[in-house]
Amino acid sequence: MNSKVIYPGSFDPITKGHLDIIKRSSKLFDELIIGVFINSSKKQWFTTDERVELIKKVLEKEGITNVKVVQFSGLLVDYIKKENIDILVRGLRAVSDYEYELQVTLTNEALTTKQFETIFLTASREYLYLSSSIVKEIALNDGDLKGFVPNVIIPDIYEKVKMIKNGK
Ligand code: ADP
Repeated sequence: MNSKVIYPGSFDPITKGHLDIIKRSSKLFDELIIGVFINSSKKQWFTTDERVELIKKVLEKEGITNVKVVQFSGLLVDYIKKENIDILVRGLRAVSDYEYELQVTLTNEALTTKQFETIFLTASREYLYLSSSIVKEIALNDGDLKGFVPNVIIPDIYEKVKMIKNGK
């Protein structure tokens, strides 16, 4: 079946944990859409355009060609309906993700009559506790980001830290 698949998130910024889910789902499906939330309630470091650019940079470096990156705002279920998406992919880390993801999944189902499935890929062991928030915390404190984000975007993150520290 030629399914339309979306992996949505904030990706502020993309981490090695996200990349792991992207690589694994891009092998499972012919084509994958990465959906970058435009309006997330979380405080973002990077603008939506910047987050998209960072993801594209990583995809290019990794030679991943069957993945496209889009931005969307509003309810994810509305986007799913509009674009006729069949499958929603989410990554599942520790127990804390489970509660939240279950709540979101059941709410999504209640919000729409559109038929789609949510599937969860378990985080790989090495990235189980990795999040964009942790990456930002390490970066703010001048820690080594090598194990946590793809090398190709490390300079962009430090550039952002400099701007934040200069109050820009
Ligand atoms: P959101 O704002 O939707 O939580 P994130 O960018 O934090 O967006 O995450 C997007 C998706 O990627 C979520 O399903 C999240 O659980 C998953 N994810 C985040 N970090 C990891 C990781 N280290 N390993 C596996 N999945 C992850």
